[in-house]
Amino acid sequence: MTPTDSTPEAASAPPQTLDRVRALDAEDPLKRFRDMFLFPMTDRKQDLYFVGNSLGLQPKNTAAAVTAVLDQWQQLGVRGHFEGNPAWIDYPESLNDGMASIVGARPHEVVVMNTLTVNLHLMLATFFQPSGKRCKVLLEDHAFPSDHQAISSHLQVRGCEPKESMIIVQPEATTGLLSTDAVVDQIRQHRDVLALVMLPGLQYYTGQVLDMRRITEAAHEYEIPVGFDLAHAAGNIPLQLHDWNIDFACWCTYKYLNSGPGALGACFIHERHAEDTGRNRLAGWWGHERTSRFQMAPEFIPPPTAMGWQLSNPPILSLAAIDASLRLFREAGGMEPLRKKSLQMNRFFRAELEKELGDRVRVVTPPEPDQHGCQLSLEIQHEGTSGRATYDQLELCSVRTDWREPNVIRAAPVPLYNTFTEIARFVQILKSCLNGAPRR
Ligand SMILES: *Cc1c(COP(=O)(O)O)cnc(C)c1O
Repeated sequence: MTPTDSTPEAASAPPQTLDRVRALDAEDPLKRFRDMFLFPMTDRKQDLYFVGNSLGLQPKNTAAAVTAVLDQWQQLGVRGHFEGNPAWIDYPESLNDGMASIVGARPHEVVVMNTLTVNLHLMLATFFQPSGKRCKVLLEDHAFPSDHQAISSHLQVRGCEPKESMIIVQPEATTGLLSTDAVVDQIRQHRDVLALVMLPGLQYYTGQVLDMRRITEAAHEYEIPVGFDLAHAAGNIPLQLHDWNIDFACWCTYKYLNSGPGALGACFIHERHAEDTGRNRLAGWWGHERTSRFQMAPEFIPPPTAMGWQLSNPPILSLAAIDASLRLFREAGGMEPLRKKSLQMNRFFRAELEKELGDRVRVVTPPEPDQHGCQLSLEIQHEGTSGRATYDQLELCSVRTDWREPNVIRAAPVPLYNTFTEIARFVQILKSCLNGAPRR
């Protein structure tokens, strides 16, 4: 093949590797799902899409689900609230089974509503209950900006000085990773002043999965509530939020859950809190129990479920897109088969990088299976080029990843729609970029 050849196989691996990779794809029990998604195209060719960790691809069934709601709105008008299919008033709850199975919750422990950061604020209002010298929040140094800002502003609103009230766990200097021991140690050290522990389930920059169960156990020893931001975990790694006894969690549905840009987020509230209707919260009429909601009384009576944290009547068009996506997860057999393929892809991805690029690329994400999801965070260590320049070249080759400051390319092959062939191609294209002769 000539360097200018631009067929999809142009930057391809040696023939034996290709045969092996094609066999992996042929044997993939989830292979039929790829065809259920729409891929962005450049010059009439599918992009190599490894950025489902940022915005999941559109399932082909989304348009019909959204159109069905538009049709019902057209035909029924306001009657759609009770006569839609499902009735709009029941639409959020109809998603609970599907959403709960993704995160290992009981259906009454989840609610689809608002967006992630808004939900974080709502959860902080409930679970951050400073009292006396117990008034601080533990978070990590590289928390997603929105998490840091939400916590900081929340502290401010409560009259606490954010700087003094945030206990920030540092990652290990050499690896940039968070050690569970260090987190547990900080919890022990600050047990008398901590009112809340708030951490990511899967760190967005490094791709590291934290030991959520152990952290929760450690905090609960001192009766400190624990919340997790699961933006990068939901639909990516297996979760057992109920069994792990986590107090609350928030996530979005536009990343691994493929529900569209700005789609509604979701919350988990453990049943021991959700069932407590006297629990402090910021209230709104949609959180009032359904049967007496329309009596329009000023008193607030929530149901003994996570639905009692809703504020407003929800955007049904967004719920319809989430519904369509959850159907695909159900059809695929839930998180277990997806995780199986994801681990297999991740092993293959690492092996290809190691074989083809050796020490020119450092994988930041930990290799232990219980410490990563789909994403690999890559640091380019190649003289004469920077990570940012490499990312830009990948973009020119229609390879979609993302760049995160200060120094990481995040690449996430997703088991629902990516293939082993694409991983092999990605590594060859990355190699061609590092060799100064990018080719698709
Ligand atoms: C994507 C992401 C968010 C996004 O928050 P929105 O409120 O949905 O914009 C929050 N936290 C983390 C860790 C994320 O990765």
